[in-house]
Formats: sequence, C-alpha cells, structure tokens
Amino acid sequence: MCGIVGYIGKKDALPILLDGLRRLEYRGYDSAGVLVLGKSANLAKVAGRVDDLEKEIAKKDFSGNIGIAHTRWATHGKPNKANAHPHTGCNKNFYIVHNGIIENYKELKQELQKNGHKFSSQTDSEVFAHLIEEEFKRYHNFEAAFKNAIARVRGAYGVLAVCKDDKEKILIARKSSPIVIGVGKDEYIIASDISAILGRTNNIIYISDDEIAVCENNEIRISNFKNEAIGKKVHKVDLSYKQAEKGNFDTFMKKEIFEAPEVIKNAIRGRIVQEEGTVKFGGLDDAQEKLKETKRIIIVACGTSYYAGLLAKYWFEELACMHTDVELASEFKTRNVVLGKNDLVVAISQSGETADTLGAVLEAKRKGALTLGIVNVVGSSIARETDIGIYNRAGPEISVASTKAFISQATVLLLLAIFFARKNTMGQDKGREIISEIENLYAKVGQVLGQQKQIENIAKKYSKYKSFMYLGRKYNFPIASEGALKLKEISYIHAEGYAGGELKHGPLALIDKNFPSFCVATKGSAYDKMLSNIEEIKARNGKVIAIATQGDKKIVKFADDVVYIPKSSEIISPILSVVVFQLFAYFVAKYLKKDIDKPRNLAKSVTVE
Ligand code: GLU
Repeated sequence: MCGIVGYIGKKDALPILLDGLRRLEYRGYDSAGVLVLGKSANLAKVAGRVDDLEKEIAKKDFSGNIGIAHTRWATHGKPNKANAHPHTGCNKNFYIVHNGIIENYKELKQELQKNGHKFSSQTDSEVFAHLIEEEFKRYHNFEAAFKNAIARVRGAYGVLAVCKDDKEKILIARKSSPIVIGVGKDEYIIASDISAILGRTNNIIYISDDEIAVCENNEIRISNFKNEAIGKKVHKVDLSYKQAEKGNFDTFMKKEIFEAPEVIKNAIRGRIVQEEGTVKFGGLDDAQEKLKETKRIIIVACGTSYYAGLLAKYWFEELACMHTDVELASEFKTRNVVLGKNDLVVAISQSGETADTLGAVLEAKRKGALTLGIVNVVGSSIARETDIGIYNRAGPEISVASTKAFISQATVLLLLAIFFARKNTMGQDKGREIISEIENLYAKVGQVLGQQKQIENIAKKYSKYKSFMYLGRKYNFPIASEGALKLKEISYIHAEGYAGGELKHGPLALIDKNFPSFCVATKGSAYDKMLSNIEEIKARNGKVIAIATQGDKKIVKFADDVVYIPKSSEIISPILSVVVFQLFAYFVAKYLKKDIDKPRNLAKSVTVE
C-alpha cells in the first residue's frame, strides 16, 4: 500500500517528514498528511500532492521533534481531506498513520460507536485511533493501550501511533505491510519503505510481523504480543535512495509482477466466508436484492481488463451457470446493445478513468441496467458512476503495461463468480473447495515467480523472432490473448492470441520455422486437444514453448521448451500461467533493450476515446 514516515529525535521533524514523503512519491498516492507534536498537536492533510501539503502548512508553526506522516492510496473511502491520514480519536490525544486494510473494521467501528465514539472519516484506519483511545480508558498507559488495540485488529497493517500527552515515543506495529526503522545519531526515522530513510542513515532495523516496536529518545524496544523482548540486528544497507525506489527490481513492471502474491492476498482479504463456502463484498451490500434477480452479466472493458473479463465469462458460466457476454467498451457504447431489466453490467478498469469504459457505463445506466465497477483507484470516475463496486486494492500500478492489476482483477472476478454461484447452483462444499484453492493461490504464484531464471533463458533464446502465436483453449484462451498483448506492448513484437480450436481455421498458414508458438498445455479438459495443436505446429517446423503442469513428463516429447506451473484446478491455473507470460514479455523486452515501463505510443490511463 502507500507511504509512512515517522521521526523522533532532536531535529525539527517537519522537513524530515516531508522529505521522506517526497521520496515515497514514486509509489503513487492520492492524498497526504502530516502531524507534528510540538507545543500542541499540529495536523495538516490534503487531497493532493506533497507540494500542496507543504503549501497548506506554510507560515503555520509546525515546530516539534516528533511526528508522523503519510501518503495514502485509498482502499476504504474517497481520496479526500477527511480520509487522509493521520487519523485521531474523539479527544484528539492519539494519532495514527496506517498502511494496509483492516478486515474487521466494520465490527470494531460499530462496537466503538455503541460506546459513544464519533468517526470523522470513511476509512478503515480511523478505527485504530479510537481503539487505542478506548483501550487507554482501561490501561491508562499508551503502550498497553496500543498493544491491546493491535491485538483486536485483523488484516494487514503497518501502523505508527503517537500520543499528545506522551511525546517521548512512537509506537510501531506491522503485519503483512512493511515497516523499517532507520537508526541515526540520537534519532529514529521510521518508514514503510527504505528509500525514505537512506541518505539520513544506512543503519536499518527490519520489523517483522506481529512485532511491536517502541522508539524513544535513545532507545528502541521490540517485543511480541506475549511481551517477550526481541533482540534485533542493525543492518548496514549499502544503497542510495534512488536505487531503493524499485527495490531489487530494475523496472516497475518487474516489481509489479513480483507483487502478485501480495495483490492476491489483498484482493481476498476480508471477503471470504470459509465456513459457508462463500464470498462477501461490502460494496455490493446496497444491491443484494437486485443482484438476486440478475439473469445476465455483460462485462465491458478495454485491453488487459477486457481479457480479465473474458476469463471471467468462463467462470460465470461454468461456476454460476449465468449467461455472460464480454464486450469491448468502445464497441458497446456505439452499438445499440439490447439490455434487459435483470442485466448486470460489470465495468473493469484499473484506473477507473478509462474513457471508453466510462462511456459504456453511462450508456448502460441510460438503458436502466444495474452497473458494477471493478476498479483499482478509489473515488475514480467509474467508481463514482457505477451503482455498486468492488475495489482491487492492488496498490498503485506505475508500469504502463498492466500486470498486477490483471492478477487482481482475475482474483476479484473469480470471487464474484463464487458469490453468484452460491446464490444459484453451487453447493457449500464446492464453494469451500474453490475458496481453499484461491487461498493457496498466492503461494503457487510465488513458485511461478521463483522460476524467473528459466523463463529468462527461454526469453533470451526466443527474443530474435519477429512474430509469435499464443494458443490456449477454454480458460486459457483469454490468457493466451493477454500474453500476446503483453509481448506486443513492451517488446513491439507481433503476437497473436488465438483459441487452439481456431488454429486450423486460418492462422496455421502463418506457422513455419520463423513463427514460434507459446501454448498453454496445462492439465485439464483441453489438454489432449492442446497436444494435437502442438503436433500440428511441429509438423510445420514451428517451434513450441509450452506451459505445462508440474509432473507432466509427456509434454517434453512435444514441445521445444517447457515452463512448469504448480498443480492446481484448471479453473485457477490461468492465473498462474499468465505470470509466465508476463515474465516472458518482460525478459524479451529487456533483451531487446526496450523502455519497459513506458512503451512507445502508449499511456497508462487511456482517458480519451
Ligand atoms: N486502508 C487505508 C485507507 O484507505 C490505508 C490505505 C493505504 O495503505 O494507503 O485509508
């Protein structure tokens, strides 16, 4: 998620905090805020850039030696001033900044409201501040209150808390969201990302999940929830902050491909009801009755999001037995699409600003359909215009070629298919079975990422070709198209995505020794037919790279090169295979020395029709 900076020491905190936020700007964010504890608690927030925050503060007295700051990438609540961090409780004594998602924030918020707490934002994060305040009533001690508040929270967090009446310390906790502490001379700089610290100090302490740290002047104490002290090593990090922006990655695209496991976790967080084998989405609560009546789903999207939609069509049909159409948004809005009373139009867009998709949403609304948005950017136009919605929570995607957003869209759409399936035809056991597959997905994606070296070698070998065929059947047809799109986008190599069954109906004419094919031949109902396709290609001297299931020995007799993915049900395996395509495209583009993050002629968010 987004950026956190904290400072405690002898210097003026404000310039250090603002500088830290600036160094985190590359990650993308929608709003920013800072709190400095001096004679009083000085708080400033803006729905805008760090520069705007600085202007807002200008001429105000923000002097003080302790403070916390945040750049927000909204997951709960619009990107406005009220929702920007830091957040505080009712009596404005405790202040927090938080990265991540609190899964049980609704329950906690209701409980706190019953106890008289008044909330001033729509965020999940504000719950932290009120919880600390509530626990403080019981323990009369900031540290004990913080620890007990954290113990009640489920989800992902990197969180920093300070107390106006106890200005000597910053309290820190993390779970599934990074926090590092820079140890300077008489000072600590705490951040969600090392680039906010480097240059000030290269001495770093890494905080692990379920650890609580207390930074006081000249002392740092780290413990677990059992109050056992944990000794930590101070690491000397040999990096400049420019190098650190992308971590160990040379491009944002690669970094984002490697964020896939995290993205899957965030997409499912708080949405699974395992015991009932079903799924819930807060953003659909307002339309439960209407959704029960839904007979047909029409997905509208462009580019990569379109292929995520095409994949979802197979899921909606197979799992939920629902009539599903997938439309290119640009075509949908210009044709006279016939919509019925019980039709649901699902719009998919990473940015939420894609002009064609927005146009399709407006057209669907004019025709009286219920509209549902699946978008990554909270408060974006499509999020606002659609009746109901689901956020991707994939964090900012900076590379023009979309990778992690596709993974997130596919995950959310699969959950949505289960949501409908459990209302229609699917039993509890089947629901549970698919859900546990989804819960294992992130670890399997991790295994695919672990094969990067092998994929790199294959990419190197094939980067000299001028054209590629991408083939898949059933669930793997949409991802074959997405794989071809990735290669086109960043390497400028011609690539065609086809359904295996179509090969003989034309494209086979293209195949010769200079026209290799990338075939998804994973185990499942289409496996034998894919082997036939591969034989057809080999008979024309075409080279074949196959994606196959671990343990498949037969495939090596057919294909020239094989990349294995972990065993999984055929419903889910396309999410694994697509990661192979993403890495392959990335490495080919790298060998061809292309500008991977900013491919020629393309823009990240297509806001024109
Ligand atoms: N879930 C929190 C919010 O929406 C934190 C978002 C972030 O990580 O930036 O405010």
